[in-house]
Amino acid sequence: NDLAVMMNVPVNNVIATCMSIGIMVSINQRLDAETINIVAEEFGYKTEYVSAEVVEAINVEEDREEDLTHRPPIVTVMGHVDHGKTSLLDYIRNANVIAGEAGGITQHIGAYNVKLDDGRRITFLDTPGHEAFTAMRARGAKVTDIAIIIVAADDNVMPQTVEAINHASAAGVPIVFAINKIDKPNANPDKIKEELANMNYLVEEWGGKYQSQEISAKKGQGVHELMEKVLLEAELLDLKANPDRRATGSVIESTLDKGRGYVATVLVENGTLHTGDIVLAGTHYGRVKAMFNERNTRIDEAGPSAPALILGLNGAPQAGDIFHVMESDQEARDIATKREQLQRELGLRTHKLLTLDDIGRRIAIGNFQELNIIVKGDVDGSVEALGDSLIKLSTEEIQVNVLHKAVGQISESDITLAAASNAIIIGFQVRPSMAARRLAEKEGVDIRLYSIIYDAIEEVKLAMEGMLSPEI
Ligand code: GDP
Repeated sequence: NDLAVMMNVPVNNVIATCMSIGIMVSINQRLDAETINIVAEEFGYKTEYVSAEVVEAINVEEDREEDLTHRPPIVTVMGHVDHGKTSLLDYIRNANVIAGEAGGITQHIGAYNVKLDDGRRITFLDTPGHEAFTAMRARGAKVTDIAIIIVAADDNVMPQTVEAINHASAAGVPIVFAINKIDKPNANPDKIKEELANMNYLVEEWGGKYQSQEISAKKGQGVHELMEKVLLEAELLDLKANPDRRATGSVIESTLDKGRGYVATVLVENGTLHTGDIVLAGTHYGRVKAMFNERNTRIDEAGPSAPALILGLNGAPQAGDIFHVMESDQEARDIATKREQLQRELGLRTHKLLTLDDIGRRIAIGNFQELNIIVKGDVDGSVEALGDSLIKLSTEEIQVNVLHKAVGQISESDITLAAASNAIIIGFQVRPSMAARRLAEKEGVDIRLYSIIYDAIEEVKLAMEGMLSPEI
């Protein structure tokens, strides 16, 4: 009805248009952004969304090639619990102090930047783990250039190692393997390389394309070589940014501090952030009163790939929220207020995630080329079989990707990955955990459960053909 009024057309025409694209709606029903686009276009209107997309449009003037300079890579360490993520991050942080940079890294602010002997820099996200990585990605942030996947050489490639690899791959982030704990007498790095090879991750010294480094995070052995390999990967990515523009980036974490008010750690992705800038992050904003680096030193500016702890926001934005520097306080306040309204009205998401029922319609509209699926099942054999069969459903128009497949219950981590990658989840003889079910509902992730493999394949196939009758 609102849309009909805005366009000045009879509401029945809007309903009829919705029906013609396969959406049954009532007069008071809310439409998702994509549907509004299509319907409005049908009546000759263009839509404009007063949300993140608009702000993006305000701020993201294309940088000219000559204004771009190299920026340090941003690296996340992921892997199975106890395989050494924290130890590696601690070693790098401490070793860098020894390397003699002014002031030690005294506080954990969520990210830190280290300088190698030759002056090259790397920024590490200090919140290790693929869960945090993907949760941020689900909010729109792309805060990692390279993932270090750490595997303990006295153990095996574990389920969480596989998850970490798949989360990094789903994000299109290149991987460097760190095979850890080689100081241990029972360490067997070759076994790890073999297990990786069995998953089609062949390391370089065995003729593959993945760099790997044997390390001891505890003793520091091999860590320098690991940094070299990360920087080599960074060179291939040719990471650049324009320091001479208003800053944009992501929120890494934020809290309310008794003495200082709201403090947020941000990572600058492009531009330079200055004290005094007006920052808009999610539904919060404010003038940067003071900034600190990871060495607890007061700073006045933070350039590309630099982390900064900022004071002055009027609330605590969420990890993964994108931040922008705005021209005026008024502008920041207006957008923050509008976003808050939108959130209240529509829930957190402004666009709907993919469901199996949607696929046929999206294909018909013609903007759908990739179907991302996560497969969970009760036994290895069926997970493999189902994954392979789904990939084989790929057609010339639509590529089916299995982002992650594993044995076990559908977990929160699966939901987050689906939300970040616009994927659907197929469970075979398994169910989601309570927490996963709740998260799926909140995020709008479609979970399909089957007890017969054939049914799962057939339903996806029908959906791709646009023949699936919507679930009632
Ligand atoms: P995380 O759970 O992945 O963060 O793993 P931690 O860094 O907490 O390490 C788990 C345990 O393994 C700790 O007791 C570490 O001291 C130990 N550890 C980590 N790296 C090494 C290593 O290179 N050699 C040895 N011997 N022990 C290590």
